[in-house]
Amino acid sequence: MAKQEDDFKRVISHAKEYGYVFQSSEIYDGLSAVYDYAQNGAELKKNIREYWWRAMVQLNDNIVGLDAAIFMHPTTWKASGHVDAFNDPLIDNKDSKKRYRADVLVEDYVAKIENKIEKEVAKAAKRFGDSFDKKQFLATNQRVLEYQEKAGTILKRLGKSLENEDLADVKKLIEELEIACPMSGSKNWTDVKQFNLMFGTKLGASAESAMDLYLRPETAQGIFVNFLNVQKTSRMKIPFGIAQIGKAFRNEIVARQFIFRMREFEQMEMQFFIKPGTQKEWYEKWKENRMKWHLSLGLGEDNYRFHDHEKLAHYADAAADIEFRFPFGFKELEGIHSRTDFDLSKHQEFSGKKLQYFDTEENKNYVPYVVETSIGLDRMFLAIFSNSLKEEALENGTTRTVLKIPAVLAPTKAAVFPLVKKDGLPELAQEIVDDLKWDFNVLYDQKDAVGRRYRRQDANGTPFCITVDHQSLEDKTVTIRHRDTMEQQRVAIADVKAIIHNEVDMKSWLAKMN
Ligand code: ATP
Repeated sequence: MAKQEDDFKRVISHAKEYGYVFQSSEIYDGLSAVYDYAQNGAELKKNIREYWWRAMVQLNDNIVGLDAAIFMHPTTWKASGHVDAFNDPLIDNKDSKKRYRADVLVEDYVAKIENKIEKEVAKAAKRFGDSFDKKQFLATNQRVLEYQEKAGTILKRLGKSLENEDLADVKKLIEELEIACPMSGSKNWTDVKQFNLMFGTKLGASAESAMDLYLRPETAQGIFVNFLNVQKTSRMKIPFGIAQIGKAFRNEIVARQFIFRMREFEQMEMQFFIKPGTQKEWYEKWKENRMKWHLSLGLGEDNYRFHDHEKLAHYADAAADIEFRFPFGFKELEGIHSRTDFDLSKHQEFSGKKLQYFDTEENKNYVPYVVETSIGLDRMFLAIFSNSLKEEALENGTTRTVLKIPAVLAPTKAAVFPLVKKDGLPELAQEIVDDLKWDFNVLYDQKDAVGRRYRRQDANGTPFCITVDHQSLEDKTVTIRHRDTMEQQRVAIADVKAIIHNEVDMKSWLAKMN
């Protein structure tokens, strides 16, 4: 645990030190669970957005984009069920006065059991060496089976109690498992209550005429209410999807995990409208497609897993999370939900307007079913950033801090250095910057020894460093250094652009999805 905490602290401080993420309004001591993206963070976020948008909208001729407003008519949230049911179960510890999400307390308890399973696996892998068969071990080892059974039973009971709104049983479960407040160790808990996560605000100038509004807690509803407008104007035929990226707001009960759980965050969602009865097939397809998107970034297959939901949200007939191995363990990164016709039917009912599709093949009208993929942009940022931050031992006995962000997403693609600040080298380096900047984000750096400049760019996540030396003036060549391997090559200045392009080109990264 201590190592996990240290690793996570290192991630947070690196994000600040290298201009990725700052606490919001820091000069006023910050605002809890609200963050600002700085010069490098804004670029990384923009690149992740682009990587998602291209994979969804550009590469699928049956998916189009949308940019709906954050404010929506308040009836939207009545219809969607958020006013009545967008709650989290809250519990307070009477001694420490700390507030928790009751389901998260139980899930963290289960995560500890899962850690024990991982430890057993690691031990056995060491013992059996090359002949180790992880699948077989998980299926047959007595201790592992007991752990799995225990974890499964707990999650099932939690799921059932939450589904039945049996909050007394959630408290009973916490007591039976003897879960203690992580801050104080006290087991003195209040009852569990529901807490609505939506932020309210007002629209209109005068108190009498002002209208109560909510800040949207998800982007999906903007897509549902525009379903027919988009379908008609784009002349899309089912199956087709609408994709959107935008801010969402939730008054989260506990927000202690940096940008993993924020009160203002950004979602990348896609609603795929289908014929009723085909939802199982599309649900499986989108699960597979989304996992391929993740794997194309090369963060390591072992760092992802699916988690099928025991407890289904009020709108879903099947749901799974793609979980990622964050510094604090496996947690939800993306959700894939089969939402049936719940949302469109509800909006139809509350608005009195038909939200149906005329299927020319079937010659009939129906309310389409929906499979959605929903990923938090900030969580994706954290997944990439935390996975990329490495401390590497070097052959000369020193270590280097390197941020191995997938080159396609790196904020700056190349840094150009003159070896010394004289003899015409700065001018040539600047010329190279001026040429490359039309294609990539590049920067010029002439401060400190070259070795230090390399380290700075390693920690910044820049995939290439280009050094101009005296030989460059004679034969128009430079050295290009690769961040991940630290390998250096002497190449013609005329070839630099193609070398960078080859590694950062979005097309070749996305092609790995096939
Ligand atoms: P959790 O169980 O972690 O609260 P959720 O199941 O409520 O998440 P969804 O409503 O399915 O999340 O939202 C889709 C995605 O939006 C999540 O997979 C996550 O990546 C992101 N997300 C949700 N809440 C937050 C938040 N408070 N801060 C950052 N990202 C979030």
